[in-house]
Amino acid sequence: MLIDTHAHLFDERLAAELPAVLARAEQAGLAHVICIGIDRESSLASIEIARRFPLVAAAVGIQPNHVAEAAPGDWDAIVALAESEPLVHAIGETGLDRYWDRAPFAMQEDSFARHMALARRLGKPFIIHCRDAEADTVRMLREEHDRHGPPRAVMHSFSGDLATAEACLAMGLYLSFAGMLTYKTAADLRAIAAKVPLDRLLVETDCPYLAPVPHRGKRNEPAFVSHTAAVLAEAKGVSVAEIEEWTTRNARELFDLTGR
Ligand SMILES: [Zn+2]
Repeated sequence: MLIDTHAHLFDERLAAELPAVLARAEQAGLAHVICIGIDRESSLASIEIARRFPLVAAAVGIQPNHVAEAAPGDWDAIVALAESEPLVHAIGETGLDRYWDRAPFAMQEDSFARHMALARRLGKPFIIHCRDAEADTVRMLREEHDRHGPPRAVMHSFSGDLATAEACLAMGLYLSFAGMLTYKTAADLRAIAAKVPLDRLLVETDCPYLAPVPHRGKRNEPAFVSHTAAVLAEAKGVSVAEIEEWTTRNARELFDLTGR
């Protein structure tokens, strides 16, 4: 059994054939798929998909590359959904991104802080997107940690260096690995993954983007998460069954999936 902890099922490349995509996910042994919102519209869509498919749980938030384009009422809508919809299991994705540089950095920081405060107030975990902004992400997480205790959160599609991984682990975060882990050139990332304790590991697809080998270059989907799990097992020097057991247990715990 596996849990894909980060999927964008509302994306048009997947949405048109969701019943088939999720049937393949079930055949591949997936216990759950977490569908992650990136703005108001996709957060609503994530809840709608979770309503239609018992395999799916939702997360709502405004991704850092979308904070500048958000309309005035969008954040309030996210808050209302998080407060009232039982299918919302997490807040996110949120975080910081200097790579695309689509929103002023101060605006991203303000949004990240609001997502963390919302998650804390509602007792829900949050999902962190971090690209070319490791130092600032760790700084903001440390402020949160020192003021309010260990954040209940995951660094999604982790691609940072060892120091970043260690700083996040020391604060009690989970690290989630995506298809990039399977790429030939990602030996450094596999070396970092090897050092993450089993009880801190998660796997994800981040579909429809960045499919793992042997599907690289094609549209990604939840069923492909098994390839990333296999590479993670090899990097850790443990069996695939152990990776399945640990990552599924971790995801159930983080996202409060027991009873779903
Ligand atoms: Zn994402």
